[in-house]
Amino acid sequence: MDTRDEFTPATVRRLALRAGYMCAKPDCKQLTVGPSEDRKSRVTMVGVAAHITAASAEGPRYDADLSPIDRASEANGVWMCQTHGKLIDDTESRYTVAELRRWKKQHEEWVFARVASAGSALKHGLTSVSIENVGPFRQRTTISLGRHNVVFGSNGSGKSSLCESIAAFSGGSNFETFRKRWGLFGARSPNMMIEAAISVNGVHTKVRLNEEATALKRIPKHHQTRLHVEVNGNVAPHWPRSLFNIVYLDSQNSKPNRLKDAFRRDLRALAPQLGLSEDQLWDALREELFCSSTFGSRIRRIGEYRAEIRSAGSDHFYETGGVSGSEHTFALFDIILRMIRVDPRSAPWVIIVDSSLFLGLDSESKRRLVNALNALDEPAVQTVVCVNSEEDAVELTADDSERWIGSSATGALTVHSFL
Ligand SMILES: [Zn+2]
Repeated sequence: MDTRDEFTPATVRRLALRAGYMCAKPDCKQLTVGPSEDRKSRVTMVGVAAHITAASAEGPRYDADLSPIDRASEANGVWMCQTHGKLIDDTESRYTVAELRRWKKQHEEWVFARVASAGSALKHGLTSVSIENVGPFRQRTTISLGRHNVVFGSNGSGKSSLCESIAAFSGGSNFETFRKRWGLFGARSPNMMIEAAISVNGVHTKVRLNEEATALKRIPKHHQTRLHVEVNGNVAPHWPRSLFNIVYLDSQNSKPNRLKDAFRRDLRALAPQLGLSEDQLWDALREELFCSSTFGSRIRRIGEYRAEIRSAGSDHFYETGGVSGSEHTFALFDIILRMIRVDPRSAPWVIIVDSSLFLGLDSESKRRLVNALNALDEPAVQTVVCVNSEEDAVELTADDSERWIGSSATGALTVHSFL
């Protein structure tokens, strides 16, 4: 006798709505509903209300202690895409009751946070940066940031100082680049100060880093500086680096690792910024992960440190060395965005694109890149894009000029920001 304690249509609907119609598997979040021109309902649905403990005795994770009513209740369901709905039932030893409950709870919290923040980057992102004694910023300068920012100015106007100062907050190689570039923490160090205001789901934190002199009187000429950290005005032993998930793209970044293969070189520079090892990033180049990507690149690994790219509109995969500069750049962005999408951390992501990355792109590609980044809804990333010429800045922003709200000039550097 097989009796199944099925969910009622009302329970299925509630499970789907509470999940935002997205698969609850943490690295999936597939949208499961959309328009159909052929079905009578005019809706296609590729999601399922999966049972956490099975609806019948033969099913996976069956719990004989549950009453039929509990078994068919909302508490015993989790919303999944069809693929993962089947996967969790076919491999029940791996996907335990506790694991599925964790997914459901995490996913509902994630959906709630998205609804509550109403899409505003200023409730979830870097709201301002202050800089003093870094590059051309001799006096304290505060720059407000919107969700998407285009910065323009000629060489030496401070674009790189701004980019590197922001990136420094993420620590690691970004902080090293910043420290070396401006000769900080040395004998003749210029007493730099950088401060970032960041908001994570509406919770504001101010992080201030500055050089503090430590003169050793017994040894003349031995002046050193050390890092002084304040968080929300209080002295702190460390700064909360985990609040700053920053990818800084600069054609200079990957130069020091001296690899001939430009793609491998870029991935090696990128991996630590994404919180991954080089090998982990290569392992992520699985074709199925890239079946849908922002710029339409399909990427697959074909060997140790070898990959192929099929760019949007092309029928063939080509080994990375055989694609054009813009196809290479778009593939890199597709990799970054894919990795950010599956990142479990809740802190906001900031992608900084320095002007050097744009030099190799024609204006059509520049526009495509900036428009796509600005239209990004998921993942909710904040962008800072630097360009050298005012023409580029105007061209890149023309389509959305009414959306530009903040524009402040600091010498030869102008920051536009819009929400
Ligand atoms: Zn899924």
